[in-house]
Amino acid sequence: MIIILFGAPGVGKGTQAAILAEKLGVAHLSTGDAFRKAIKNSTPIGLLAKGFVDAGALVPDDVVARIVEETLSDPSFSNGVILDGFPRTKPQAEALNELLDAKGLEIGKVVNICVDHATIAERLLLRGRADDSREVIDYRLNVYQQETEPLLQYYEDIGKIVSVDGLGSVEDVNSAILAAL
Ligand code: ADP
Repeated sequence: MIIILFGAPGVGKGTQAAILAEKLGVAHLSTGDAFRKAIKNSTPIGLLAKGFVDAGALVPDDVVARIVEETLSDPSFSNGVILDGFPRTKPQAEALNELLDAKGLEIGKVVNICVDHATIAERLLLRGRADDSREVIDYRLNVYQQETEPLLQYYEDIGKIVSVDGLGSVEDVNSAILAAL
């Protein structure tokens, strides 16, 4: 089972992905978490990614592909995976297709979590992660609109999108996602 959680920064992908992974008994891959861990441990990928993550820019696609490929090859992912924060660009979506093709796997659904941008900015400011300053938030939302949002149409065209309202309690949003799946 391959499920993609899709949506702007701050819509709650990470929270929902963790709950879903637990409930469905599959693994959870957050590329953002993977980069933060790599940065903390000063691994080669972490050193490459640090400047981009700090600035709220996208890490280059080839670096992202490396971390995803490495992670997905772990046996703990054989039951399926909730992808959180990946793919974020067209080349990443294509890389994912190739990776899944090679394993004879297919994307189940792409869950588009919808939250308006004013609410997102409020939530991120409250969260207060290192890349959650007002300036970097605006930049990340802009990058989302330019680079990532166009993927919605791509997944819509192949009939993979289900949309859920991301406002409301964590439990409500989770029920909505499970119902949509
Ligand atoms: P958020 O969704 O709140 O932006 P993430 O933890 O998903 O938080 O991402 C944090 C940062 O990690 C991004 O701003 C970006 O620099 C990097 N990153 C995560 N996933 C990707 C990806 N698929 N492609 C490029 N960069 C990524």
